[in-house]
Amino acid sequence: MTLAPNSELLRPILHNSDPKTLATEILKSLTYRLGKDTSVATPHDWLTASIKVVRDRIIERWIESTKSAYEQKEKRVYYLSLEFLIGRLMRDAFSNIGMLDNMREALALLGVELDVIAKLEPDAALGNGGLGRLAACFMESMATVDVPAHGYGIRYVHGLFRQEFSDGWQVELPETWLDHGNPWEFERRERSFEVGFGGTVESVTSKDGRLERHVWKPSERVLAVAYDTPVVGWRGERVNTLRLWSAMPVDPILLEAFNAGDHIGAMRESNKAEVLTQVLYPADSHLAGQELRLRQEYFFSAASLEDIVQRHLSQYGELLSLPDKAAIHLNDTHPAVAVAELMRQLMDAHGIDFDTAWDLTKRTFAYTNHTLLPEALESWPVPLFERLLPRHMQIVYAINAQVLLEARAAQKFDGEQIGRISLIHEGSDRRVRMGNLAFAGSHSINGVSALHTDLMKETVFADLHRLYPGRINNKTNGITPRRWLIQCNAGLTNLAREAIGDAFLDDVNLLSGLDPLADDAAFREKFAAVKRANKQRLSSLVGERLGIKVDPSALFDIQIKRIHEYKRQLLNIVEAVALYDQIRSHPEKDWEPRVKFFGGKAAPSYHNAKLIIKLANDVARVINRDPAVRGLLKIVFIPNYNVSLAEIMVPAADLSEQISTAGMEASGTGNMKFALNGAITIGTLDGANVEIKERVGDDNIVIFGLTAAEVAERRANGYKPRDIIEGSPELAQALSAIASGVFSHDDPDRYRDLINGIYDNDWFMVAADFDAFTAAQRKVDSIWRNSPEWQAKAIRNVARVGWFSSDRTIRQYASEIWNVPV
Ligand SMILES: *Cc1c(COP(=O)(O)O)cnc(C)c1O
Repeated sequence: MTLAPNSELLRPILHNSDPKTLATEILKSLTYRLGKDTSVATPHDWLTASIKVVRDRIIERWIESTKSAYEQKEKRVYYLSLEFLIGRLMRDAFSNIGMLDNMREALALLGVELDVIAKLEPDAALGNGGLGRLAACFMESMATVDVPAHGYGIRYVHGLFRQEFSDGWQVELPETWLDHGNPWEFERRERSFEVGFGGTVESVTSKDGRLERHVWKPSERVLAVAYDTPVVGWRGERVNTLRLWSAMPVDPILLEAFNAGDHIGAMRESNKAEVLTQVLYPADSHLAGQELRLRQEYFFSAASLEDIVQRHLSQYGELLSLPDKAAIHLNDTHPAVAVAELMRQLMDAHGIDFDTAWDLTKRTFAYTNHTLLPEALESWPVPLFERLLPRHMQIVYAINAQVLLEARAAQKFDGEQIGRISLIHEGSDRRVRMGNLAFAGSHSINGVSALHTDLMKETVFADLHRLYPGRINNKTNGITPRRWLIQCNAGLTNLAREAIGDAFLDDVNLLSGLDPLADDAAFREKFAAVKRANKQRLSSLVGERLGIKVDPSALFDIQIKRIHEYKRQLLNIVEAVALYDQIRSHPEKDWEPRVKFFGGKAAPSYHNAKLIIKLANDVARVINRDPAVRGLLKIVFIPNYNVSLAEIMVPAADLSEQISTAGMEASGTGNMKFALNGAITIGTLDGANVEIKERVGDDNIVIFGLTAAEVAERRANGYKPRDIIEGSPELAQALSAIASGVFSHDDPDRYRDLINGIYDNDWFMVAADFDAFTAAQRKVDSIWRNSPEWQAKAIRNVARVGWFSSDRTIRQYASEIWNVPV
């Protein structure tokens, strides 16, 4: 599970951290901080006591890091994200600060097993999927590569819902990660700001009648209170801050009502404030579209901007140097209203003129686009925006006037193009386009893979790109190798340390030293043994949680990610049904035993995604029970996919399913985690798969299907899925089995509409890619049959994907976007 005890390389960087001293401190912490005696201490108490002991060491470093940023006048990075999908923190922090082994020994001295209490830590699921996980990896990498940074987000009381299955259907249960308190966080009451909503805007004029400034008089106010969590980089050299805002009622309002005897009214007021940060919207790659969501976006953007501006002012005493000392990054458009908010603060609170404020704003902000899906591009109805944020609406109009002026002056846009550049979508349903606002207000707009960035230039931002060339750039996503290799795959980490030494722990690119060992039979066997142990661990989990027995010697084929039609879990399920037919009709062939694993949550309002989960479970029930399958194919859908589950599943994968419709997955990061842990990818030429292929080489990845250009071409020229289905007997048979109720006797029509959708429209090109996908799967079988060949390819994957470290990504952001030294 963890690094071998011989960790002089993970030198306990702080004095007095030998196991005996730590054991004494854990006991003290239990007694004086928790008020518990060992005889009554619960495992949770041990967890909290242990975290607080390590946290004390981290705080020393935290204070040093903060002080040095101040004294050295370092430029700071502010990463604004509505989501941080952090997962558990204990192992991450203990390991990064070099105290994991000593803490394990210290706890053992007290008769407590670290690995047991580690599992009690709740998964901080303050995010939906890839976007939120990226923010978490970035926070860790910024601390690691020594970038002074603050993450800003929301402290949701309820993170992403917990998923259970009831008769194969997804049920959503509330996530209650704060039930036992959160030993990592510090509440900072003194760091709180009022955030306004609604009301009116007044203009103040000077004696001679000139407009001096605007004053926004909000009708509602809530208090944003900061909660800080330290983020420890690898080897603990720098500790940065993740500052999450919690909403509280502004006291005076509440007290007035209460004192006037209106107790219910006071409570209502209090609930109204607190509801703001109660829940994370569970929509991934989909516009939430609710007023509360816009309130959340403004709430955390405004509080963060106040905090940033105040910090800058208190250090430098003026704001003209803001772009030199602060880089504010927008993770997608969720915080895009921050562009208007900074303008408001600069102009209305600090008396800076529009032109200067606009120049400062553009030089301070940068924006990352995460999706081209039209249903995910944020826009807000003008009336709603105006009612909630009247001053910001004025500012958006003023910015828009400036942008449209520049567009007309360029003399290269027709009316339609100008219409697409506008921050306002005109028509009967006038809307504020948050992507255009973020683009206009930023000096850098980046995509998250080479393909996605190219498509961005050609599609959503084609006109803005022509107006402001040079702003769009690519930063291919990455993952932190600490969590996604060192911590989740100790077996592979230790094997690599034995084989090539420890240097790769500090520079994961050095895993390239494993490349020649792909041809070494003895090493391949050790590598296979590590994989086998990881598969055994997953098998045990599946046995315990689901009562399903899976054979660790079978090929473990894994697709884990949010359920979305573009990610094409349906293609995978249809292929499983076709394989089921083949196994039964050709029992003479030597089929390779396979277990297909699924994991992922569906947005509660996403009908087809939930139906796809039910289908996977229905198909699993039939196939897993059919004796004619002879155990050659099993399907296992593990509920409640989250970071902790990923940490068990990724190291256990032989085959990584990355099969999105080409052009629709911006990057993917799951694909990177799997390759780093020695799985072979079966995938389309989409997102970062393209770059993974370039790095691992064509022979070490299985690519199939239409390219993004071919998908676009088919859609443009009249794609006829019905003809394709009629020409593919395997596909036709699988689809008709599903549609006719073979897997749903209790409700034979359950999947009729879903399957008809493939015949009639098939936007996601399941039919077009089906034959290529099955052929690719049979190619996978043939590689699998030759075990040395399989292991060699898997080893080459590990050796060649160090580039996908988020350390690399962050260094590129630092030097090419933020202008921060690394
Ligand atoms: C990495 C990760 C994701 C993103 O996976 P993709 O395959 O890139 O969509 C989503 N959820 C969790 C829990 C993850 O760890």
